[in-house]
Amino acid sequence: MKTTAHQADDRSRAAFLAKAASLWPVAKGSLTQTRSPCTRKNCKACASGRKHPKLIFTFREEGRLRGLYVRPAHAERLRRAIANGRELERIITAAGRDLVLALRGEAEA
Ligand SMILES: [Zn+2]
Repeated sequence: MKTTAHQADDRSRAAFLAKAASLWPVAKGSLTQTRSPCTRKNCKACASGRKHPKLIFTFREEGRLRGLYVRPAHAERLRRAIANGRELERIITAAGRDLVLALRGEAEA
């Protein structure tokens, strides 16, 4: 019985690591578009109130909210990384649930 539980644990570990390895690049946070003024004088876009679109990646670091500007050319890669990050969190959550259920099964065996 013990061997079976260990084998199942090894399989779960291998499956988790293989999945985690496929989730690169990874990021946690959100990408949003805002509009901000530039520093040029007599800018029509700023004078009209349209201003300029800017992509900002916001994330928490040690509890503090931080933001970084993102170049438009980098947006798709960052979106993929954020999606990968959500999937990674999902598989970690599932691993925790499976661990508790497996431990429960071992205790009852
Ligand atoms: Zn401007």
